[in-house]
Amino acid sequence: MAFDLVLRGTLVRPAGPTPGGWIAVSGERIAAIGAGAPPPARAEEDFGDALLFPGFVDGQTHATSYRGLSGFAATSRSALAGGVTTMVDMPYDNPDPLDTVARLEAKVAAVESLSACDVALYATVAPGQGTGEMAALAAAGVCAFKISSFESHPVRFPRLPADETRAILAASVPTGLPVGLHNEDQEIVRGAIAALKAAGKTTPEWHEPSRPLAAELAATAHFLELGRATGAHVHIVHLSHPLGYELVARYREEGVRATGEMCVHYLHFDAARDTARLGARMKVSPPIRAGVVDALWRSLAADRFALVSSDHSSWPVDNKLVPSIFDAGAGIPGLETLVPSFYTDLLARTDRPAERLALEVAEKPARLFGLWGVKGALEPGFDADVAVLAPGAWRFDASTTRDGLNWSPYDGETFAARVAATYLRGRKVWDGTSVLGAAGGRFVPRRG
Ligand SMILES: [Zn+2]
Repeated sequence: MAFDLVLRGTLVRPAGPTPGGWIAVSGERIAAIGAGAPPPARAEEDFGDALLFPGFVDGQTHATSYRGLSGFAATSRSALAGGVTTMVDMPYDNPDPLDTVARLEAKVAAVESLSACDVALYATVAPGQGTGEMAALAAAGVCAFKISSFESHPVRFPRLPADETRAILAASVPTGLPVGLHNEDQEIVRGAIAALKAAGKTTPEWHEPSRPLAAELAATAHFLELGRATGAHVHIVHLSHPLGYELVARYREEGVRATGEMCVHYLHFDAARDTARLGARMKVSPPIRAGVVDALWRSLAADRFALVSSDHSSWPVDNKLVPSIFDAGAGIPGLETLVPSFYTDLLARTDRPAERLALEVAEKPARLFGLWGVKGALEPGFDADVAVLAPGAWRFDASTTRDGLNWSPYDGETFAARVAATYLRGRKVWDGTSVLGAAGGRFVPRRG
């Protein structure tokens, strides 16, 4: 019996790269993998010495926070161009966050009609809502819950008070789902912003001081303590400083189910070096800080990250380039640069860049969000999601991105590889130039 498709190239697996490898696909799944002469197949594609990775899982995207559910169309095409076959999308949708089963059903319908890539979904709990809907959301397949200690928007991205946070964590335990936190202390940040505004300090270099490290670490420690008290899995969705990862590791050593996620821009930009050049284009919260990039790479070497994500935000650049840095949207697009930029930096800074990339951006997010067994590895039985990374200098031009935003703080940078092809469940969906075919993405429920 011939397979439907064989892909040839260097396979990236946890034990190390296998040159001259092959992946045999039957239907939507990987049927077999090996090295040497490939088995017969109805179609074969040979990528030579390019690296064949499991389709990447971007553990943090905000596809629908600006345009609403229609945001899936362009954002998912950007994902495929970046080698990302599964987005884990955050719940802070415009106009209403995903906090009920009815809203989950509407978002799943949007995924299945509009998305070109597969999507797993976070849910949230609104202030005052109570925890009554959480079990039903978990049973319907959401992969995690997310809440915030800081109000970015009163409805879409609200702040949860401590008593409700504690109740949400307690209610999450029987579901087994992680609860993610946007970790900034509201009073400290608001106070700092008010003082800076009063002093007329509203240019981009004041963004970092307006959100001091103490605000980030205090909110993190508070949440970790509530995790200790309840037994919940407490997941910090971004930590901008190595002290944050140390804090999480310390709680983990004490038996708390604590994890901390890295967003790739913290490993690449430095506020001291890049703010003058990029301004609001590099505004994220918590902020990119000055002088911590090398220490963050030591955190990676110490295996402190739960995963590495893009935190892709769907803001048009007009939302960023406004007179006061405090009125500029926080967040940057990142689906098409996550893999090329991280791989380029890994190549410069580590010994086993390909294995580390697969670990941090495929295996770890797939395991954390309950997608393992389907997503995250080149293994028989898994979905035939494959990202092909071709080595060679590649200049990134943000004007060509598929996200409908066409700006990026990485614009004009030269990366050490590009995504030459992407396969989603056995179907070629990106050929290095164009997204192919109609939207064919699916909702990926968390597995039990
Ligand atoms: Zn985010």
